[in-house]
Amino acid sequence: MAGLAIITEACIGVKDRACVDVCPVQCIYEFDEATNRLISEIEAGSGVVETEHAPDPAAIAVFGDGLLYVNLDECTSCTACYQPDVCPVGAIYSEEHLPDGSPTSAKYNSADPHKGHDHTFFVQHSRDVFAD
Ligand code: SF4
Ligand code: SF4
Repeated sequence: MAGLAIITEACIGVKDRACVDVCPVQCIYEFDEATNRLISEIEAGSGVVETEHAPDPAAIAVFGDGLLYVNLDECTSCTACYQPDVCPVGAIYSEEHLPDGSPTSAKYNSADPHKGHDHTFFVQHSRDVFAD
């Protein structure tokens, strides 16, 4: 299993940052409403920002700080964050195994509460959220 990491709707309201802890390139971002920036920390919760980006106003307005966002231009497809034991709610998929809601779709993560849904929205949305 390889491919870019896509965070889907199960992350909404959970955001425990387990994926951030395992990402070797700090390419998983959180929207900081106070500064209107997408930020990634050197270590989750450290408060020390590694990199930041401007959000696209329309795209970020969809979920705001409700979930985390992978920068797909920075993700190295290392596979670490979508191993089965990382995300407690099964929100992260490899792009090439992202379920599209059809019966023949790729397998859903076992912990994903949204099994059966079309998750493909989150590919373009992950791209749209980053304005730079
Ligand atoms: S591990 Fe899953 S629920 Fe936690 S922040 Fe990452 S995508 Fe969201
Ligand atoms: S696949 Fe690797 S590089 Fe990409 S977001 Fe997950 S942990 Fe980070």
